[in-house]
Amino acid sequence: MWGDSLSIAAALESIEERIQRACIRAGRKREEIRLMAVTKFQPRAAVEEARSSGIRLFGENRVQEAAEKFPAFGAGDPPPFRDCELHMIGSLQRNKAKLASRIFDCIQSIDREELIAELAKHTGGRERPLPVLLELHTGEPSKSGFPDGESLIQAAERLLCCPGLRAAGLMTMAPFDSGEARASFRALARAQAALVSRFPQADWSCLSMGMSGDFEIAVEEGSTLLRIGTAIFGERSGSLPRA
Ligand SMILES: *Cc1c(COP(=O)(O)O)cnc(C)c1O
Repeated sequence: MWGDSLSIAAALESIEERIQRACIRAGRKREEIRLMAVTKFQPRAAVEEARSSGIRLFGENRVQEAAEKFPAFGAGDPPPFRDCELHMIGSLQRNKAKLASRIFDCIQSIDREELIAELAKHTGGRERPLPVLLELHTGEPSKSGFPDGESLIQAAERLLCCPGLRAAGLMTMAPFDSGEARASFRALARAQAALVSRFPQADWSCLSMGMSGDFEIAVEEGSTLLRIGTAIFGERSGSLPRA
């Protein structure tokens, strides 16, 4: 995609059409689904172009990269990004939890209990709790996440005891290129139902699932947040500046 002249705006327009068609197929409302632009390895200029095209939700998977690229995020900072949300979607190291809790509006990649404890340490005194999603492992061998429903329930118990953190839902990554995305998304929806029945007082409404290769299936299976990178920005490989 880098080579041709497909602009970010044009890519977004075509993704938008595909989301809308998937919504129609699934009998869903477009407003139920948020579109995140995953800007990892993309330059700041690409972020700005996506923002000009209407994107207000961004995802990064490294704390340091996000801190450098989105310096304007966080309380009291100047425009242009004050109206945007930035979510952490990558594996989070414990020693980066403090910085992450400051620069991100949501941590989607809570994949172990240790991380809940660490984030709780740095968010205890907050006025507005930090929203987090629990990540469920649903198939991609190289990916992280809680391994099963039981560990998810345990993590939820712990999470709901942290006043600085707020449960907001679940996240998963489906296996790449395997045709198993649908099963993976269904597993996440089942885990959500289990959490809702076990902890009805909490909010589990966000289902963050669906990437460039499988977002239409994710819409059909109930996704409320699509995390899309390459379909918007082109391939990340190499260090070519955006044309
Ligand atoms: C990179 C990444 C995405 C986006 O992947 P694309 O296939 O480029 O759309 C989504 N979620 C996570 C967790 C990622 O690391």
